[in-house]
Order: sequence, then C-alpha cells, then structure tokens
Amino acid sequence: MQAKASDVVIIGAGPSGMTAAHDLTKAGYSVTVLEARDRVGGRTWSNTIDGAWLEIGGQWVSPDQTALIGMLEELGLKTYDRYREGESVYVAPDGTRTRYTGEMFPVSAATEAAMNSLIATLDALAEQMDPGRPWEHPQARELDTISFHHWLRQQSSDEEACNNIGLFIAGGMLTKPAHAFSALQAVLMASSAGSFSNLVDEDFILDKRVVGGMQGVSIELARGLGGAVVLNAPVRSVSWEENDGDYRATVVSDAVTVTARRVVMAVPPNLYSRVSFSPPLPRRQHQMHQHQSLGLVIKVHAVYETPFWREDGLSGTGFSASSLVQEVYDNTNYEDSRGTLVGFISDEKADWAFSLSAEERKNAITDSLAQFLGEQAKNPVVYYESDWGSEEWTRGAYASSYDLGGLHRYAKDQLTPVGPIHWSSSDLAAEGYQHVDGAVRMGHFTAERLVAELSGDESIRGVSAGHHSARQE
Ligand SMILES: Cc1cc2nc3c(=O)[nH]c(=O)nc-3n(C[C@H](O)[C@H](O)[C@H](O)COP(=O)(O)OP(=O)(O)OC[C@H]3O[C@@H](n4cnc5c(N)ncnc54)[C@H](O)[C@@H]3O)c2cc1C
Repeated sequence: MQAKASDVVIIGAGPSGMTAAHDLTKAGYSVTVLEARDRVGGRTWSNTIDGAWLEIGGQWVSPDQTALIGMLEELGLKTYDRYREGESVYVAPDGTRTRYTGEMFPVSAATEAAMNSLIATLDALAEQMDPGRPWEHPQARELDTISFHHWLRQQSSDEEACNNIGLFIAGGMLTKPAHAFSALQAVLMASSAGSFSNLVDEDFILDKRVVGGMQGVSIELARGLGGAVVLNAPVRSVSWEENDGDYRATVVSDAVTVTARRVVMAVPPNLYSRVSFSPPLPRRQHQMHQHQSLGLVIKVHAVYETPFWREDGLSGTGFSASSLVQEVYDNTNYEDSRGTLVGFISDEKADWAFSLSAEERKNAITDSLAQFLGEQAKNPVVYYESDWGSEEWTRGAYASSYDLGGLHRYAKDQLTPVGPIHWSSSDLAAEGYQHVDGAVRMGHFTAERLVAELSGDESIRGVSAGHHSARQE
C-alpha cells in the first residue's frame, strides 16, 4: 500500500472538498484529496449519453449564490441564461392544462389569495431566521415538531394552495414528502435562498447554467492541484491521536494511506457511517448522523431534434403538484441546435416510478411531459434518467435534511470538529444549503478554520471557530 503524508487530508472531491483543497494549497499547506469515484465533482457530473451531452447532477446558478459565482469567475468559467421566452403551463389537480405568464399559477382567485398568504407567512418566518442558526428562531421548537404538510394545513384549508406551496420545498427542494420533514426545515430552505419568494420564482432560482457544465468547477480546481487528488480511493478508516498539542491522523483508503494533521470529511452526512473512526465519534455525532438523510428525485433528460415547444410559444416551463412530472424546464445546452427538456419526479412518485419496468417508466414519464408540452414530447431521440439513489457514493438527491425535530435538536453541533476531523458539504451550509454554492461556501469556511488552527493564529481563529455556521456576513 502506497503511503503519503500531508498537512490535511480531504475525503471527497466534490465542490466542497475541492474548494477547501484549493484554499489550503493557496495558503501554503499540503493537501491530499481522496475520492471514492473514478472522477471528481461528486453530485455534479456531465456525461455523453447516446450522443447527447447531459448534466446528470447539479447545474443551475442563482444570483444570490455569490460564493459560486465568485469561484466561476476565478476559474474563468462562463455562464448562460436558461431559455424562458414564452408561456408556461400549469396542470391543475383535475388535469386541466392552462398556459400562463408571470410567477403566479393560473388558479382560482381564492386559491391565489391562499397561496399569496402562505408565501407571505413563509417569507416572514424566513426573515426571522439566521440560516446559520436555525435553532435560534423564536419558534424553532414549535416549527420543528410539526410536519410541513400539517403546518400548511393549519394555515390554510385550500388543498390546492397547500399542495402548490408544498411543492416548492418538498418535491422541489428537499425531495421528501412534506409529511417527512418539519416546518422549521422548510423555513431553513427558504431562509438559505434569501426568502421563500425566491424559491417560487424559477427565473431567480434556476437562472443560469455553466458553459461546459457545473462539474467544470471541480475539474478546474483539480487541475490546479497537480497530483494531490487520488481517484478510486474510497476511505475506509480514520484513526487519530493527540501528539504534542497537535493531532496525527491516519486515513486508510483502498489506494493509499495518508497521515495528516487534520482531516476534512467533505462527503454528505448519510455517508459518514461508511467510514470507521478510531476513537469512535462522540455519542452526539453518532445520534445526529442517523437523523440526516437524503431525499429521492429522478432527473429526467429528454432530447429532441429541435426545441419544438418554442414554435408553439411555450417556454418549456411547466408545473403540477398532481402530475407524475412535477416540474419541467427547457434545458437546451449552450449553442445546441437540439432541444432538451429536463423534468423531475420526486419522493413517493419516484418510488412508484421505480416500481415499473424501465419501458413502462419511460412511457409514463414521457406521457407526463406531453401533458405539459404536447404529443411530440412522447418521442425523444435520447432519453435518460439520473438515478442518484443507486449511486453507492451518494445514495439519493439532491442533498440531506433532518427528520422531524432533528434540526433544532442537533444542527448546532453539526460543524463541531471531532479532534482533527472537520465536516464540510453543501448539506451543512447556511446560505446555499443543498446547492453547489453552499458546497463552495463550506469549503472556504473549513479551509479558513483549518488555516487558523494550523497556523495558531488566534485572530483568524476568533473569526471562525466557535461560530458553528457557514454564514458569510
Ligand atoms: C440530480 C441533482 C440535481 C442537482 N441540481 C442542482 C442545481 O441545479 N444547482 C445546485 O446548486 N445544486 C444542485 N444539486 C446539488 C449539488 O450538486 C450538491 O449540493 C453539491 O454537489 C454538493 O457538493 P459536496 O462537495 O458537498 O458533496 P458531493 O458533490 O456529494 O461530493 C462528495 C464526494 O465525496 C465522495 N465520497 C463519499 N464517500 C467517500 C469516501 N468514503 N471516501 C472517499 N470519497 C468519498 C463522493 O464520491 C463525492 O465525490 C443537485 C444534485 C443532484 C444529485
């Protein structure tokens, strides 16, 4: 077995681990990045499937995601706008299809009023929250001990309004049924993105894509690190001891054993238990990690010879809380003559879809796309389902959230280091939570903390240590 020594060993070459590696290297520390897969990028990944180039994981950038935007600028990666000319389509619970423009779905006046009232209430709750300290929200315990589903129905008796508002967080973001997470977790999602209104506005939250793909962030960062990234190196164990006021950690992977002064676990929390720790992690960490889980969503890609919906005056955007495909967007690549649609099937609908044969599932999903955009949607030339639930080194999508009551109970300790071990992933971010922006923020934050610790610079340490939040003021 090959052996290496560096100041810091980073486990996971997703955008969070790669950002930390980049910052630490810039600060003069040696790093080794150990990655289980045969590629960098983690939940960001582009691949060519049957001749179509597709972004299989994370792809969109929104204007509030300033850490990611800064990183794209630093790496010289360009962005382009999502196509959004023309009318959107709403499919109502009774199956009625309506074309519309603007943000508000074409619902009855009563449902519109109920939706606006729910949006205003969620905006006000999000405004009261520091996303780096959700447990300090004045109603933290009350909101964390009721499911988002039941909380919505406490606020409104309009079922269509509750389902539509639920969609933005449940199916749309956490990819869990609204009965499986708390209202506090929903408020955190909104607060992390600036407001609930931002989540409702698809032109904001799904604003731009990266030319060449979001995986380019990690690929470019790896290029700048020389040989520091070791692929095909799943980490199996981390052991450590205190050594003259410092730490000495030994990290064993399938490819190489690395000794280091500090360790960064840059993997989603649902995967921490894949690694054996010695000494064992503290009780509170063991417990906390069992209350954090990834959601489930199928990201469907359907490629056509042309973006035919545009000729019909449609933007390609469609929403329905009651259809199999809950959201659809024009996802045509930069300067591509072919048209690509991307659709999302979330949580219990994904369970149902996966109970079908591959052919039945494709038929059900393309039928659902056709409900929004017309018969031609039934016949894509390339069809592909991103299935992150089957990926051993992710196990779900998009990211992790706490179960009912877990957020106010545990989150204040989720960034507390254990000896030399620090935690860094988009799943733990304040701003940009669950997004690439959050991963980049966490990478910067973790590197800053490590530089403070390793340099013994108390003035830097005071800025970050003890403030268990990735919030950047
Ligand atoms: C389908 C999908 C769509 C998404 N859409 C968007 C979007 O449009 N916009 C957006 O901003 N975000 C989106 N996201 C979320 C975004 O991709 C993630 O938040 C981000 O990639 C998280 O980065 P990370 O570095 O924290 O973790 P990851 O990207 O998960 O990286 C963790 C890395 O650790 C590795 N690893 C795990 N265990 C081990 C081990 N034991 N040893 C060694 N290596 C290990 C993994 O292989 C992986 O490479 C999407 C995600 C998915 C799946």
